[in-house]
Amino acid sequence: MTTDATSHDWAGTGFSTRAIHAGQDPDAATGAVVPPIHQVSTFKQDGVGGLRGGYEYSRSANPTRTALEEALAAVEGGSRAYTFASGLAAEDTLLRAVLRPGDHMVVPDDAYGGTYRLIARVLGPWGVEHTPVDLSDLDAVAAAVEHGRTKVVWVETPTNPLLGVADVAGVAAIARAAGAVLVVDNTFATPYLQQPLALGADVVVHSTTKYVGGHSDVVGGALVVGDGAQLPVGLEGPTGTTSLADAVAFHQNASGAVAGPFDAWLTLRGLKTLAVRMDRHCQNAAAVADYLAGHSAVTQVLYPGRADHPHHEVAARQMSGFGGMVAFRVGSREKALEVCERTRVFTLAESLGGVESLIEHPGMMTHASVAGSALEVPDDLVRLSVGIEDVADLVADLGQALA
Ligand SMILES: *Cc1c(COP(=O)(O)O)cnc(C)c1O
Repeated sequence: MTTDATSHDWAGTGFSTRAIHAGQDPDAATGAVVPPIHQVSTFKQDGVGGLRGGYEYSRSANPTRTALEEALAAVEGGSRAYTFASGLAAEDTLLRAVLRPGDHMVVPDDAYGGTYRLIARVLGPWGVEHTPVDLSDLDAVAAAVEHGRTKVVWVETPTNPLLGVADVAGVAAIARAAGAVLVVDNTFATPYLQQPLALGADVVVHSTTKYVGGHSDVVGGALVVGDGAQLPVGLEGPTGTTSLADAVAFHQNASGAVAGPFDAWLTLRGLKTLAVRMDRHCQNAAAVADYLAGHSAVTQVLYPGRADHPHHEVAARQMSGFGGMVAFRVGSREKALEVCERTRVFTLAESLGGVESLIEHPGMMTHASVAGSALEVPDDLVRLSVGIEDVADLVADLGQALA
């Protein structure tokens, strides 16, 4: 296998240099400056077991996927990355690699609805228990951890859709003391704005469908494992080691929900421009949040970049920018639906993180699956994924929708 990250080749270089070059040397055979789409299932062996570059069968490893995995490891500051057919496939693979029946996990009381559905309704019947908790409250996290039984602490920051912020270093200390694995879903912040592994996380999860891909044209997921990360205390992995990366690598191949070559190529193409896109997402979102905060029809704006956000200080400490997601409340479900249906530049759609601005009603759309659970969201909430269009057009569009 040649999936070891080559991030050391680009160590010391800046974020965008790594995003554009790590794992992406010009093609050895042709000099192509972009990794080719190796749309192939199997590889010729030079004699039995004589693999060229470690490639044997594309579920196990594929060169286009390797390029993406090396680039992601390099930008996230991890030792290895693994990519999957979706963010949830990445999460499912990780959780099955680190949990056993009877184990317990601490989960956010505000998280991507699909993550909660996976934990509660897929892993639950396999004997994994969970406690939802407000991750921004470290005392509540410490109280929810059961020493000896809690094997995973799951953090999403900022959260989807309420833009809550968790102190990653603070939660890391609690997870470490319990011998649990700290997972951070870094989908909203992206590695450009937040580096959870440096703050003490063991593994980072991405829905690369969102900002990493960035163009609303591909679904994918990734796990990036920190240097030396270990399985929960007491667990030995399927290959006889306690290395978290070994266990994830085994499960990626054994379960097989891998990213296909074309999806990996599209995601890599998106990754190259992540920094410039995020700079514009952040600028536009800050302007939109300020505009909404001054609008009489808006009762509350949720944006971690604003001084009135309850965890603004933590966000400012651990993020280098506040991202492109903004949520706001308008007092009633009726009004929220009206706003969602009236915008013209903002497109009414689920998902987020693309260059185009999107608007949605989490209660009836992205978070419909958590209705009635601890993760139910307010029904007058509107969520914006602020794109990189001209900000004056975005503000004018919201103005006419709220009028
Ligand atoms: C979309 C999303 C996921 C799930 O990813 P898919 O690619 O849709 O499977 C997980 N976490 C967050 C924060 C998300 O926004």
